[in-house]
Amino acid sequence: MSSVRSVLALGSNLGASNDTLVLAVADLVEPENVRLHAVSPVVRTRPVGGPEQPDYLNMVIEVETSLGPYELLAHCQAVEDKHHRKRTVRWGPRTLDVDIITYGSWTSDDDVLTVPHPRAASRAFVLQPWAWMDAGAELEGRPVAELAAEAADISGLMPFEGV
Ligand code: ATP
Ligand code: CA
Ligand code: CA
Repeated sequence: MSSVRSVLALGSNLGASNDTLVLAVADLVEPENVRLHAVSPVVRTRPVGGPEQPDYLNMVIEVETSLGPYELLAHCQAVEDKHHRKRTVRWGPRTLDVDIITYGSWTSDDDVLTVPHPRAASRAFVLQPWAWMDAGAELEGRPVAELAAEAADISGLMPFEGV
């Protein structure tokens, strides 16, 4: 069966966020056809957009999967639901957000699933952990470390030093 590498971005700013991220990674790679390839460090970030809300913890992972892109999206949303994700205010606080950043070299501009994620190239909270996970990673033909350095939110990104 052919498989694809996909980069997923996780974020949480409600509840026990550090626990949630670790449990969510385990849930994401629980199916036999989703395997963990790489994990980034966890970063603490100031919220970007949306209402006043607590800082986020963010990380990225790379998985190898034979799920199709829409099946992978449904799986990510099932894991969000398991962690009690509520969909109320856009960009509001949440227990868990899982976004598909890339899915191999596949691209899509569909509203249900836009890949590469349309806002990833300007988000340090995605790009910086990704660069730490995979120093050679590129997005839109540019090294993700360079994109991270240029992102407006890079100054709000701190190492996560534990709860
Ligand atoms: P943002 O997309 O700016 O990070 P968000 O993560 O808060 O915002 P959500 O409310 O989690 O947005 O998702 C809204 C919809 O975005 C989802 O229902 C999903 O269908 C769609 N979507 C489109 N592209 C993607 C993607 N690459 N990864 C995850 N969801 C996506
Ligand atoms: Ca998101
Ligand atoms: Ca999302």
